[in-house]
Amino acid sequence: MYPPMEMDNGTYYMKPMNCPMHCLVFASRQRSYRELPIRLFELGNVYRYERAGTLHGLMRIRGFTQDDSHIFCREDQLADEVASLLDFVLSVLRAFGFDDFTFNLSTKDPEKFVGSDEIWEKATEALRKALDSHGLDYGVKEGDAAFYGPKIDIDIRDAIGRSWQLSTIQADFNNPERFDLEYIGADNARHRPIMLHRALFGSIERFFGVLLEHYAGAFPTWLSPVQVRVLPVAAAHEDYARSVEDQLSAAGVRVDRIDANDGLGKRIRAAKLEKLPYVLVVGDDDVENTTVGVNPRGGDVERDVPLQSFLTTIAAEIDQGASQAMSA
Ligand code: ZN
Repeated sequence: MYPPMEMDNGTYYMKPMNCPMHCLVFASRQRSYRELPIRLFELGNVYRYERAGTLHGLMRIRGFTQDDSHIFCREDQLADEVASLLDFVLSVLRAFGFDDFTFNLSTKDPEKFVGSDEIWEKATEALRKALDSHGLDYGVKEGDAAFYGPKIDIDIRDAIGRSWQLSTIQADFNNPERFDLEYIGADNARHRPIMLHRALFGSIERFFGVLLEHYAGAFPTWLSPVQVRVLPVAAAHEDYARSVEDQLSAAGVRVDRIDANDGLGKRIRAAKLEKLPYVLVVGDDDVENTTVGVNPRGGDVERDVPLQSFLTTIAAEIDQGASQAMSA
């Protein structure tokens, strides 16, 4: 893939995946059954060689950030771990506004697998049970699993019906073997842990791409990089505009301001193109009365809104959006 690089008497390589490092973390000292499950998480930068013709915006790139988690558990913990992983994955995807999912369970290829039939049976059963207990419809791809373990793939459908594969919950019987991972059981004997790979977004960059497509750039207020823009009508209103910006910012709102170097119409159009949730226009009356003119995205302009009441409203909207998302 990418050639190694010599530097300061050392050889450096691009990291293609995080899994082996997490195995080494597990293996760094003796583990007891009481410590399990051990759940490791990393936002890891990884690199893949993608052919030039296949590169595509944020969707397919050569260096990206994986939200990667590896869970090492005992056989008797497998079903609970898978069920809670599924809970977690669904709650996070719902938080971002996705609610149309497709689930697929990939099962053993009888021609090509490592591990015992028994462990495959158990793991596949755990995945199946988790899907069943969540009342989810799912497809079964018989024989489609990788040689090292069965998995659940979760595809989401975006606002205009395109399907994206995002999350995976994958059992792995190979890496624990290859890295000779062990823990000491209650019986004082050595046992192999089961490894689960869990990717939620897959790649953060790609997830951003999917979010942008899903919302067509018009993010809900709680998720918008800029939630409010303040526009003074003319230079005379800039001091007041700055004080509005400061008060919003102090209240935790992500806000910016564009001064009157360009005409107001042009600045409003630019803000609409950026699909900002709110544009506040301030002029003579506003300076005098501590009010703002509120231009909500896709709504009607409301003039002479007391600044304090806008502050209260938007803080509540952001809070509600975020807490709905968190409890989804
Ligand atoms: Zn992994």
